[in-house]
Amino acid sequence: MDTNLIQQAMPSLRIARYRPEIDRAIATVLDGSSYILGPAVATFEAAFAARLGARHCIGVGNGTDAVALALGGLGIGPGDEVITTALTAPGTAQGIALTGARPVFADVDPVTGCLDVPAAERAITPRTRAIVVVHLYGHPADVAGFRALADSAGLALVEDCAHAHGARLGEQALGVFGDAAAFSFYPTKNLGCLGDGGAVVCGDPEVAARIRALRRYGWKAGAQISECVAGNSCLDEIQAAILSALLPHLDEGNLERRAAARAYRDGLGGTGLGMPPDDPGCVYHQFVVRHSRRDRLREALLHDHGVSCGVHYSPPLHQHPAFATAVPPSLPHTERLASEVLSLPIQGEIAARYLPRIVDALVSACAS
Ligand SMILES: *Cc1c(COP(=O)(O)O)cnc(C)c1O
Repeated sequence: MDTNLIQQAMPSLRIARYRPEIDRAIATVLDGSSYILGPAVATFEAAFAARLGARHCIGVGNGTDAVALALGGLGIGPGDEVITTALTAPGTAQGIALTGARPVFADVDPVTGCLDVPAAERAITPRTRAIVVVHLYGHPADVAGFRALADSAGLALVEDCAHAHGARLGEQALGVFGDAAAFSFYPTKNLGCLGDGGAVVCGDPEVAARIRALRRYGWKAGAQISECVAGNSCLDEIQAAILSALLPHLDEGNLERRAAARAYRDGLGGTGLGMPPDDPGCVYHQFVVRHSRRDRLREALLHDHGVSCGVHYSPPLHQHPAFATAVPPSLPHTERLASEVLSLPIQGEIAARYLPRIVDALVSACAS
């Protein structure tokens, strides 16, 4: 690997920064005698629920399963339609499909890239049972608008918070506005572990109990009796212990991302790049600029300047074979954004080392 290359995300830098705490967390699990759904998972579930102001947290295997189990816990399954965005990670729509329901894509807001309320409303059919909103790049989606739409149409609302750990709308953390919310702890997320991990949070104890059964063989609390058909998807003890060690640093990391976003806005003002919306509750899982010749710019940054940027997301999910339909949905804003978005490195540890170099590279690449 070219050691001069600035990568778009570098989770190993975060691990190095908090290494002593992570080592201690892992040692605690190794010194114990419980490896599946033991004290470390219970401790993290309580801490994460408290951090968000949520009533229940259920640790699961990954973010895709978190979407599936959130919907499953709300009773969504085969024959149902679930409205969502195509400008998201495959896990959002795969999680919907894992329940047996069909993802139905509606267009996004042209500025925020988040699912658009009127577009979602137009996509409702008699089979629609739920809406999954994504707080894209850590920017709060219009949850008040979606809550009102879901309530008036009798639909469940699920927040995909895989980009939004610690993000806020007013004083409230994202994740408490929906009937349930799904989190991923994939290593590059704002709160990430050293493998796969995820969680569902929700307010209703009966929904929480169903999700707990769905994550482990359909077992009801306290009995090893399978009450329903279910797979097996648990957050593991070592990842939970690592997450408990990293959770106290979440706000620090998010503040660093917000500071880096400010520095990018200042430094890139004259480049002509489209800047992301500036929301006080955003945690910048990605800092996403827009350029009409995105692919050319991305190549120049990589080859001439050693700066690797990301694209979140292209192609959009309605153009993936798994989700293609005979009559493709009309998603002009989604397709336009998918062709223009470019994710700059924004993780705090990268910004601390390289932000001026990345700004210089963009200024130079945009001028040529
Ligand atoms: C990462 C991600 C997921 C899936 O999470 P995994 O833990 O990788 O399964 C789902 N939705 C969004 C928006 C994501 O970014």
